[in-house]
Amino acid sequence: MSSSLRTSSCKFKLEIIFHNIELDLFIFIYIILFISPGRTCEFCSVFVDHEHWQPFEPTRVTAVDETVKYRISVTRGSHECRVTGLRWQSFCNVELEYSLGDWDLYSDLLEKKGFVSCGPLMDLRVISGQLAAVHLPHFICLDTQHRWRDFRMLCAEDTGVSLEDCLISQFHAVQFCHTFIPMAVLVSSGVPVKAHCDILIYLSSTAHQTLHVYLIPGDVKMKESVEKREKGSVKICTTWPDVSLQMKQHYTLSTSCSSQITPQKLKLRYTSKTPNFFKT
Ligand SMILES: [Zn+2]
Repeated sequence: MSSSLRTSSCKFKLEIIFHNIELDLFIFIYIILFISPGRTCEFCSVFVDHEHWQPFEPTRVTAVDETVKYRISVTRGSHECRVTGLRWQSFCNVELEYSLGDWDLYSDLLEKKGFVSCGPLMDLRVISGQLAAVHLPHFICLDTQHRWRDFRMLCAEDTGVSLEDCLISQFHAVQFCHTFIPMAVLVSSGVPVKAHCDILIYLSSTAHQTLHVYLIPGDVKMKESVEKREKGSVKICTTWPDVSLQMKQHYTLSTSCSSQITPQKLKLRYTSKTPNFFKT
């Protein structure tokens, strides 16, 4: 992966070349900041969602232990949370509270069942009303052959958690609410998958002329972790490749000018704990 950052006409121009080591494949990205391309990969950008989703800004509540919770109170219909990408449908007024959970609690269960997470863990509570369906966001690109049985929904029941079948769409997995509350989307650990990714670039506040370049799956929890870690740094940009990238493979970064880059390669992985980055 090669990258350069230079100025021209008061705009930053950013050229990035990702190099997938395993496939020896180069992916070129060219961005002029302030011009926003489509939010997704070329393949998925042609996808048309015929449902009208009403965007909703949740109320943010911070608990004593600094856990962030979101609250909403809406009328019947199809709604989408602007912050987390969570969608839900209801035939009556509903009041919800939700937060982004930690995957650590379920890592043993997922390993035993042969699944990995591919989206944020939603700790969702229905305060009043009833949900007809919940659509949980995932970052998997469906540009290759996936079978519906490769996916599961982690659901909360009174007796514990279970893995349930679900419908999968381009950016969400759907669960019709009967006796359980959907929490997250899972994909079989044996299936090679590509992810829609985000690139986050920060100018370090502690080291002179040092950039931190993050390549992460497009997940709200991961972005939150990066933002927490880079508190005090200057955010240069958030952008994304126009192609999806193979998970669990290694990528390198290089620059057009002389610079020191560490580490030499990074594995594209999903973790909310310690997202890694290139330092250049
Ligand atoms: Zn895609």
